[in-house]
Amino acid sequence: MNTPQQSPSPPDTAGITANLARIHERIAVAALAAGRRPEDITLVAVSKTKPIEAVRAALQAGQTIFGENRVQEAEEKFPLLRQEFPDLQLHLIGGLQTNKARDAVRLADVIESLDRPRLADAIAAAAEKEGRLPRLLIEVNVGNEPQKAGIPTEDADSFIADCKSRFGDKLAGLMCVPPAGEDPRPHFTWLANRAAKHNLNIVSMGMSADFETAIACGATWIRVGTAIFGGR
Ligand SMILES: *Cc1c(COP(=O)(O)O)cnc(C)c1O
Repeated sequence: MNTPQQSPSPPDTAGITANLARIHERIAVAALAAGRRPEDITLVAVSKTKPIEAVRAALQAGQTIFGENRVQEAEEKFPLLRQEFPDLQLHLIGGLQTNKARDAVRLADVIESLDRPRLADAIAAAAEKEGRLPRLLIEVNVGNEPQKAGIPTEDADSFIADCKSRFGDKLAGLMCVPPAGEDPRPHFTWLANRAAKHNLNIVSMGMSADFETAIACGATWIRVGTAIFGGR
């Protein structure tokens, strides 16, 4: 049969709830093993490509912080959910085009992917127009991979300093996605050290496959998608 799908299949609400509980347990174990407090680690649930019903299931299970990597998708899902769940916090974690900066500034509580001077200019201009400025993280291309988002490591110090003087306390920390297929440890450690050097409190690193390692290396925010919502 060739019947068109009217809507995606309903989310596995019980599965999402159980996955969240399991991840919180794993966070606690990893934090304690590293001599850290579990409550010092914040879970960002990455809901990209997942339907609004899946996000709602996570919200009903008590998760309030979500990450999306496309502005348009975030715009389709989150303004509605905010009316139902006023505590909801939206993080934009994907590469951001300057022409999307104004939408991003209007929509997001945190932009984790500030990675170049022209984007900083666009965010500053958008903040002036919108009368609001999200918290900002600088994304560092810790593996200096061509084609990958993030400021190159050699430019990180000066870019961090510029953003600090421009955005003040709204510049909250650093973020990275280390190269696939490599030991992430040296990259995670580099990022944590660089954040400390600049007195930045937030270190956003670690995904489904490596969040425990990231916690061991000093992550304060972890960004987990697949382990909560299933494969994409
Ligand atoms: C998709 C994504 C994640 C989550 O990845 P999972 O492997 O699904 O946990 C985290 N950070 C960024 C920047 C992403 O794009």
